[in-house]
Amino acid sequence: MTKLKIAIQKSGRLNEDSIRLLKECGISFNNGVNKLKAEALNFPIEVFFLRDDDIPEYVAEGVADIGIVGENVLIEANSDVKVVERLGFGKCRLSIAVPKNEKYKGLKDLQGKRIATTYKNVLQKFLKKEKIDAEIHEISGSVEIAPGIGLADAICDLVSSGSTLFMNGLKEVETVLKSEAVLVANKKLNAKQMEIVERLLFRIRAVRKAKQNKYILLNAPNDKLDKIIKLIPGIKSPTILPLADEGWSSVHSVLEEDEFWEIIEKLKAAGAQGILVVPIEKMIV
Ligand code: ATP
Ligand code: ZN
Repeated sequence: MTKLKIAIQKSGRLNEDSIRLLKECGISFNNGVNKLKAEALNFPIEVFFLRDDDIPEYVAEGVADIGIVGENVLIEANSDVKVVERLGFGKCRLSIAVPKNEKYKGLKDLQGKRIATTYKNVLQKFLKKEKIDAEIHEISGSVEIAPGIGLADAICDLVSSGSTLFMNGLKEVETVLKSEAVLVANKKLNAKQMEIVERLLFRIRAVRKAKQNKYILLNAPNDKLDKIIKLIPGIKSPTILPLADEGWSSVHSVLEEDEFWEIIEKLKAAGAQGILVVPIEKMIV
């Protein structure tokens, strides 16, 4: 039987979310400490636990068939793989930061400066595009301390909340790249392997869609039903069930997270009562 090899980060910021995503897709496997690989029990997949930096190349070379990795790592590695799906977690940005007391007016201020980074290729491309001539110092970790110890004038590193920068007396001044985790695939998968990728993708989309939506139930007096139904976008049309209490109905539908509060407020104003909001586990539309 064909099995698909998926590479995920062994430990680090993408590890937990990658495992959670696979588990939410109904794929169970034993991920013991320090294990290199684990076989799924109920899906034709084998999970490889690797350092994130190695994932693009392993997938490009076919050691793994697919993988989950940050776009930042993928672009830096410049490996020949296909991005199949953005996964919505591991969101961060690759930014340039300078000491917080520095007067920074714009990119021109970086001219001739020393910038420390682990993302040499991405930074080089960015500086070239912006026509800035700066000296790139490639270091392998703890980039944020480089200005403090006199190794560089600025840094280019990953940021999510900005608290690490703040603690090191730095301020973010430019965004070089926005990144999130993506599912990548080897470009030469055969039809059988592609079939498994499609099955996995179907599940990933159902899980992600469910997270972006809520199931809503509410009670409405029948004379207000028309107005209330018009306020609910829903997937098709809402379900209306009569309540035991004469003249009242129960309305069920699905709302998207983004528009959720605004619609709830309008529904309440239109006469809806007893509004219940329930998370959805999977959503197949
Ligand atoms: P490895 O040991 O696998 O090489 P690492 O130390 O290079 O791990 P992590 O710090 O675990 O990497 O980050 C993995 C990925 O998580 C990053 O490449 C990035 O895509 C994403 N990420 C999300 N938020 C952040 C953040 N605030 N700082 C660093 N990475 C982040
Ligand atoms: Zn890494």
